Amino acid sequence: MTERGGATHSKMEVKTSLLDNMIGVGDMVLLEPLNENSFIENLRKRFDHNEIYTYIGSVVISMNPYRSLPIFTPEKVEEYRNRNFYELSPHIYALADEAYRSLRDQDKDQCILITGESGAGKTEASKLVMSYVAAVCGKGQEVNKVKEQLLQSNPVLEAFGNAKTVRNDNSSRFGKYMDIEFDFKGDPLGGVISNYLLEKSRVCKQPRGERNFHIFYQLLSGASNDTLTKLKLDRDFSKYNYLSLDSATVNGLDDAASFRTVWNAMQIVGFMEDEVQSVLELVAAVLKLGNIEFKPESRVNGFDESRVKDKNDLKEMCELLGIEQSVLERAFSYRTVEAKMEKVSTTLNVAQAYYARDALAKNLYSRLFSWLVTRINESIKVGSLSLSSQSSQCPLVLTDNSFEQFIINYCNEKLQQIFIELTLREEQEEYIREGIEWTNIEYFNNAIICDLIENNQNGILAMLDEECLRPGTVTDDTFLDKLNTICAEHQHFESRLSKNSKFLTDHSLPHSCFRIQHYAGKVLYRVEGFVDKNNDLLYRDLSQAMYKATHSLMKQLFPEGNPAKVNLKRPPTAGFQFKASVGGLMRNLQTKNPNYIRCIKPNDKKAAHIFTESLVCHQVRYLGLMENVRVRRAGYAFRQSYESSLERYKMLCKQTWPHWRGAARDGVEVLLTDCSVPAEEFAYGRSKIFIRNPRTLFTLEERRRA
Ligand code: ATP
Ligand code: MG
Repeated sequence: MTERGGATHSKMEVKTSLLDNMIGVGDMVLLEPLNENSFIENLRKRFDHNEIYTYIGSVVISMNPYRSLPIFTPEKVEEYRNRNFYELSPHIYALADEAYRSLRDQDKDQCILITGESGAGKTEASKLVMSYVAAVCGKGQEVNKVKEQLLQSNPVLEAFGNAKTVRNDNSSRFGKYMDIEFDFKGDPLGGVISNYLLEKSRVCKQPRGERNFHIFYQLLSGASNDTLTKLKLDRDFSKYNYLSLDSATVNGLDDAASFRTVWNAMQIVGFMEDEVQSVLELVAAVLKLGNIEFKPESRVNGFDESRVKDKNDLKEMCELLGIEQSVLERAFSYRTVEAKMEKVSTTLNVAQAYYARDALAKNLYSRLFSWLVTRINESIKVGSLSLSSQSSQCPLVLTDNSFEQFIINYCNEKLQQIFIELTLREEQEEYIREGIEWTNIEYFNNAIICDLIENNQNGILAMLDEECLRPGTVTDDTFLDKLNTICAEHQHFESRLSKNSKFLTDHSLPHSCFRIQHYAGKVLYRVEGFVDKNNDLLYRDLSQAMYKATHSLMKQLFPEGNPAKVNLKRPPTAGFQFKASVGGLMRNLQTKNPNYIRCIKPNDKKAAHIFTESLVCHQVRYLGLMENVRVRRAGYAFRQSYESSLERYKMLCKQTWPHWRGAARDGVEVLLTDCSVPAEEFAYGRSKIFIRNPRTLFTLEERRRA
């Protein structure tokens, strides 16, 4: 039954430990009575006793403890290794072990989907899974190198893709998906990381109380004087426009030490010394760029033309990257527009120059980030356990939702959809496998909301794209008009199909807003900036200036600046690109066996020991956890292999105690008949007994104890 401890644990003890010595109930499926209150009470009780993990069947709910618990030791790894899910108290290691073993022994591709709001513990959870897998798989020299590289990709990605936010001091500002590939022995061969939607607006501007990406602060605090001189940088954060000052230093974050960790990790992952140098030069260039300022110069015809104010930063940036100063300078004052095969030069005013500067900084940084991911992949690639951590922020608490939030909420909708689909599918497949009749389960399907957003003809993203392509004056308001008109004609309109309407229009909405009924609740979006952000425009003069740089990485990041490759086709819009990557992720997940970790944040103070009921309740709702338990309980709440259930309950029946000589299935049948449990309470599957009602299980448990 178990490889470990077979001798020391008597078989009687190898059991449904979810019911023994358990604080609260280890599996929500067994919760009686089941309602939102009891669900949350159970989480609280367990949380108060340091039990941060609770199951819903095979789904793991993880509560962020906000302090280190002694449950991630090598001893714990050993304890969970090769054990069945239900034998020990709930733990993230149990899920990792299950996923890893199914992959190794049954050759079934696995994916682990980690969701939860910002600060709920997704990144930490993904690292725990990775370290568990690294600990239990092979130990050869080659394998160790691969493992080390996989693990060390984390600090690199976190330095460039994470930032301090109000909600989380180490918030991932990008979606991450990681495929780890294993050979037939179960040793890791390598991995592929995909990233999407880096929050690039953060490069230029951070909300109050938040910081830019860690790397900027790490570089300034941790680099040697020598390095800083080479990069023409000053240690003082306050010298840089792009760095917010109100929270430049974060309690518990040692930027200087992190810089060394990142540096070290980059070497382990396989970056060459000169590559690291190049990367840092681009980071420095972003800071320099942010310091370039503009002033108006009046022209005869009354227009103000933008001029670079103080040329020192411009000069230093150009020196760093090997760009001719006059070329860049010109690109901040003029832009070339192609009209009817003719090139026309128009001037930029100060506001446009700032816009162009920021667009360049955002593009530079986000392309650098993508390059880092690609570069890491080259190192660790082979040729799959997949880990995906996705922020599923609660949309309701956010005010002033803009394009970015709209996109994130769309992703959440898709993740919720696949969660529903896959949980149901998994349940159904188990029934089929076990030869048990399947009864349909009613559930809320959010496909209609996804459709409202992504439909190719009249979805919101398609309409936005259409608007962005339309010649003439396009503004956020014309886009909103279009939305209102089309959605009003369409099925989603409230008054016609009020029950299914997800696009909500009413006259009480603030100006320039629209509202969507997401699965998690109604969200108000402000339309300002949608067109612009979707266009994600970078003036061609700037990409051409970057392409002319002698800095080879820089040049590589702006291939469209190559004059030989000028194509008049517009680059895909931000919305289009994101939709495509979400689509890719969904297709990938469809082909794998899903494992779920649902992270919950106990309070919004980043503090240990505090359980804020309303906050937890909110998350339980929008993560759809109640729905999840209901699906799981709709047919048969509990299932267990014949062997395990016989071992556990054989003492209740004379014929099965102390030994049953026949097949385990027959033993269970004899036992249950003897205990006169009504026949409709059970179904006999091929390898498992299915129990309809948790109460039945409790009755058996009570008898055992009596
Ligand atoms: P975001 O969406 O903002 O990236 P996240 O869900 O990835 O958020 P994490 O960064 O994983 O959140 O967790 C936030 C913080 O909570 C961590 O920096 C750590 O301090 C604490 N934390 C999370 N999980 C654990 C854990 N298992 N043990 C101890 N502390 C934890
Ligand atoms: Mg994170």
